[in-house]
Amino acid sequence: MKFEKLRFSLTRIWLIAIAAAYFTVILNFSFWRYILTHIEIEDFQTLLFVCSMPFLLFILLAAIFNIILLPYITKPLLGLLLIISSTANYMMYKYSIYIDSDMIRNVFETNSREAFDLITLGLLAWVLMLGILPAIALFFIKIEYKPFFKELQRGTFVLLVCFSTTAVLAFAFYKDYASFGRNNREVRKLINPANHIYALVRYFQIEALAKRQFMRLDENAKLVPFEDPYPTVFVLVLGETARALNFSLGGYEKETNPQLSKQDMAYFKEVFSCGTATAVSVPCMFSHMSASKFNNNDAAFTENVMDLLKQSGYNIIWLENDDGCKGVCNRVYTENMVKTNNPKYCNGEYCIDEALIDGFEDRLKQITKNTVIVLHTMGSHGPTYYKRYPNKFKVFKPTCDTADLSKCSREAIINTYDNTILYTDFIISSVIDSLKKFPELESGLLYLSDHGESLGENNIYLHGFPYKIAPTEQKEVPMALWMSENMKKYDHVDYECIKNEAQNNKYSHDNLFHTMLGILEVKTEKYDPKLDVITPCRLRPLPQ
Ligand SMILES: [Zn+2]
Repeated sequence: MKFEKLRFSLTRIWLIAIAAAYFTVILNFSFWRYILTHIEIEDFQTLLFVCSMPFLLFILLAAIFNIILLPYITKPLLGLLLIISSTANYMMYKYSIYIDSDMIRNVFETNSREAFDLITLGLLAWVLMLGILPAIALFFIKIEYKPFFKELQRGTFVLLVCFSTTAVLAFAFYKDYASFGRNNREVRKLINPANHIYALVRYFQIEALAKRQFMRLDENAKLVPFEDPYPTVFVLVLGETARALNFSLGGYEKETNPQLSKQDMAYFKEVFSCGTATAVSVPCMFSHMSASKFNNNDAAFTENVMDLLKQSGYNIIWLENDDGCKGVCNRVYTENMVKTNNPKYCNGEYCIDEALIDGFEDRLKQITKNTVIVLHTMGSHGPTYYKRYPNKFKVFKPTCDTADLSKCSREAIINTYDNTILYTDFIISSVIDSLKKFPELESGLLYLSDHGESLGENNIYLHGFPYKIAPTEQKEVPMALWMSENMKKYDHVDYECIKNEAQNNKYSHDNLFHTMLGILEVKTEKYDPKLDVITPCRLRPLPQ
C-alpha cells in the first residue's frame, strides 16, 4: 500500500484547469514565439489584445478538455496528448514547421531511416521533460469524481463560463482577432493540441476522398439553340467579397456604381449567397446542388456547370485573378493572372483586376465559335482593401492603407471598401463597353459576387461566419445582368420584364447553374426552369 501514499487527489475540474494552463503556457511555446515576433505592441489596445490571448487560449482549452476528458479515458487520452503535443512543440520550435495534414502525411510516409534522423537527443530530452514525465505524474493522481449529476452540473457550468468569457473577449477584440487571423492564416497550425488533432482528422478525410469515384453530371447534355446568325459570347464576372449593401444600383447612398448606372443593367435587388467564404460559395454557385444540399466533398468529385458547357461545345476561357477557382475550373482552359504577371497590373504577388481585361478586345476579335469567358476577380478581398484598386480610384477618403484593420477608423475602412466597389464597377462596365464594339457577336454578361463582408456592424469585420448565424452583410450579394441587342432578339427575351422581375423577387446562388444553362441553351435533365431567372420573361419556350 506504499503506492497509494504517493497518490494525491484532484477534482476533475481542477485537473482540467491545470491541464489547460500547462498546455497554454508550456506546450504552446512555439505559438507564443510566433505571437511575440509578429505583433508590434505600439499602443495600449494592442497590448490589451496580446494580453487577452493567453486567457482566450486557456478558456478554449478548458472548454475542449471539459468535453473530451471523460471518466475512464481521461488519463490515457491526456497522457497521449501530452506526449504528442510536446513532440509537435519541439518540431515547431526547432524547425519552424507548421502541423497540418501534409505534415501528418510526411509522418506516415517517411521511411524509418529518415525518421531516425529526426530523433535527436534534444528531442528525446524535451519530450521526456515536457511530455512523458507529466504523463507519468498524471497516473499517480487520483481524480475525484462527484456523483454523475453533480459532475454534469459542474461540467455544464464550466462550459457556460468558458463560452460567455469567450464571447466577451471576442466582442472586445473582434477587429484585432479578425485582422490578425486573416493576416496570419498559418498561426492556427501552431496551436497545440488543436493543430495535430485537426491535421489527423483532415489527413484521414483526404485519404478517404482519394478513393472516391468522379461523377459525370449528364452525358447527354447538349446545345439545342434558337436559330441565330452569330456566335454567342457570354462573360461571367465572378465577384469577390462584394456585398449588396454597398452597391448604389441597390440603393447605397454613396455613388459606387457611376459606370454601371449608365449601362442598361438588370440589377437583382435581393440575392443571397450560398456560403460566407469563397471556399464554399464558389463551388456551390457552379454546382447543380442547391445551397441546402450542398457539400464541398461531393462537389469536388462531381462535374459542374462549366463541364456541361464545355461538353455542349462551348469554348471556355477561365481567367483567374483571385485565390484559385476552388476546383471549379479544373477541367477547362485557365489562365492565371499572377503567373502571367502583366507588369502593368501585377507586382509578382498579386494583380489588380484590370489584368483580367487587358487585351480583352483582341480576344473578342478572335472569336469564331460559342464562347464563355469567366473573369474571377479579386474584387474587394480584404483586409487589404487598399491593394485592390489603382490610385485614381482612391475616391472616398480617408482610406485605411494597412492590413491591420484595428489601426483604422470604421469610416476609413468603409471608404477603402467602397473604392474597391467603384473599381469593380469600372471593370464590369469596361467589359460591357468592349462587348458593345462587336455587333457581330451575340453577347451577354452576368456579374455575381461570392459572398458579402462585415464592415464593423455590431463590431464584426471580414466574413466567414457560420451561415446560420452570419449577419446579412456577409450573405447578401450584388448580381447584375446585361444583354446585347442580339441576345435579346435571338434568345427571344423580354429584357424589360427581366429588369422588372429582378427588382421584385428574391434570388440566390442556386439560380446561377440553371440561368447559365438557360441563357446558353444547353439541354440537360439537370436544368430546372424554375431556377432560371430568365424563365418568366421568355417570349418563346427553349427549343427542345
Ligand atoms: Zn470570396
